[in-house]
Amino acid sequence: MYNFNTFSALTRTDKHYNLIVRSMNLLSKKAYVNGEWVPATSNEVFEVKNPADCSTIEKIPDMDVGDVQNAIQCASKAFQTWKSTTAKERSILLRKWFDLMTENQKSIAKILTAESGKPLSEAMGEVHYGNSFVEWFSEQARNVRGEIIPSPTPSKKIMIEHYPIGVVGLITPWNFPHAMITRKASAALAVGCTCVIKPAEDTPLTALAIVKLAEEAGIPKGVLNVVTSDRKNAPAIGKLLCESPLVAGISFTGSTQVGKILYQQCAKGIKRIGLELGGNAPFIVYNSANIDNAVEGAMASKFRNCGQTCVSSNRFLIQEDVYEKFVNKLVEEIKKLTIGNGANTGVNLGPLINTLQMNKVSSFVEDAIRKGAKVLTGGKPAKDIGELFYEPTVITNIKDNMDVYNDEVFGPIVTIIKFKTEEESLKIANGVNRGLAGYFYSQDVSQIFRVNKLLEVGMIGINNGIISTAEAPFGGIKESGIGREGSHLGIEDYSYVKYTCLGGL
Ligand code: NAD
Repeated sequence: MYNFNTFSALTRTDKHYNLIVRSMNLLSKKAYVNGEWVPATSNEVFEVKNPADCSTIEKIPDMDVGDVQNAIQCASKAFQTWKSTTAKERSILLRKWFDLMTENQKSIAKILTAESGKPLSEAMGEVHYGNSFVEWFSEQARNVRGEIIPSPTPSKKIMIEHYPIGVVGLITPWNFPHAMITRKASAALAVGCTCVIKPAEDTPLTALAIVKLAEEAGIPKGVLNVVTSDRKNAPAIGKLLCESPLVAGISFTGSTQVGKILYQQCAKGIKRIGLELGGNAPFIVYNSANIDNAVEGAMASKFRNCGQTCVSSNRFLIQEDVYEKFVNKLVEEIKKLTIGNGANTGVNLGPLINTLQMNKVSSFVEDAIRKGAKVLTGGKPAKDIGELFYEPTVITNIKDNMDVYNDEVFGPIVTIIKFKTEEESLKIANGVNRGLAGYFYSQDVSQIFRVNKLLEVGMIGINNGIISTAEAPFGGIKESGIGREGSHLGIEDYSYVKYTCLGGL
């Protein structure tokens, strides 16, 4: 495998970078079904591109519903034995997978940077984060306990046990190509489910790399399957996963728009579904806040993954007394960012993932400017760096009829709103149909408890811009989704409760 220490010197050009990634053992050109590395039955392929320069990294199988039907059948067969393994056996296998991913973390990070564009340091961060779910659920596997509930009748015993639901379909996005898979798959495997994974078309190489390591760890054939396809086949594959009687549940992370389609499709069979959808996080800075900390949190929350994070702050609400200080300091920090190919040392802002995202971000900013927003810095694509780069941007004078107010931007855009009272801040923060994450900065203890109680979101960061961790439940309310991933609650999407009444005692 390639020596990471000489990596940055050798990846100054994108051409070199693709060559290095292409030569890596973990890079796969095939999908993974029933323990075999396979092409699409049609032999069709699609290109996976490096968003830093839009060059092709690899061509991989463009599978269709026939291929996915086969993967579902294999997962269903594998479930019959996997569900009967002991929790200890599953725990040991998950731990081996975690150990192998830790050993290979630098290689995984390089693949991740190549296909997602995120800077290598961030890719390493994601690999740590993604691996931590496998470690966590290797431990949780042995902690899925039943209960005996005191019975009202002396001759009866009330028992509760957790059982795996069966085959699950996991449909994942491009923004966290590693962690969005491990957060789902390791929980599913821990309780005894088998999986058919459909990674995002922009970032399937990371999925295939980590599943290679799962194979090496000894996870039996058919238990984890990865089907790859281009965007055009995704709706039919999604429909099949939602409607197949052999699939017991779906877990999806991605846009609210697609989440709603899958929710409807699952309704036909009353199928279990977990949805991690878009956010529109408020980031509130109150007058009592420590402004240096708030700016640091804002930078981390907004610019990680070039703003393409569902828990990324979307609307910055700044109270009037600290408005100028916060905005000036934020703009100062933003001007220090280095945009470029994430494979190069010192880069901390990579490209957007694809042309669709570029068009969306550009049109959101143009819409805001047309409706009266003022640009403090940035405000346009950074075309001199590459086709998919956008300048880190700050815009003020935001109104509630602008797209940047009502929808998540998923780009490096800071939209700033000035407010006077706490009540006004909560009205703005809660006045959207999403409720994933929210952040606020305050040193006033009573305000901290009040605002924490009244913010309508599933996750809150107080005086802190980074909240995700394997130990805590991740998920939202309103149109941001259903269910929780990670933490001890993360197994609930993949297990059902069986109540047994034992009589004649
Ligand atoms: P998307 O929802 O379109 O795609 C996510 C996954 O769903 C991919 O694997 C895709 O192939 C698949 N998919 C697409 N259409 C499908 C369908 N009809 N049935 C089944 N599967 C389908 O997301 P995107 O295009 O990658 O991004 C669009 C927007 O979604 C972004 O701008 C952002 O707002 C949001 N998003 C949110 C998250 C998140 O973590 N919450 C992640 C990525 C994107």
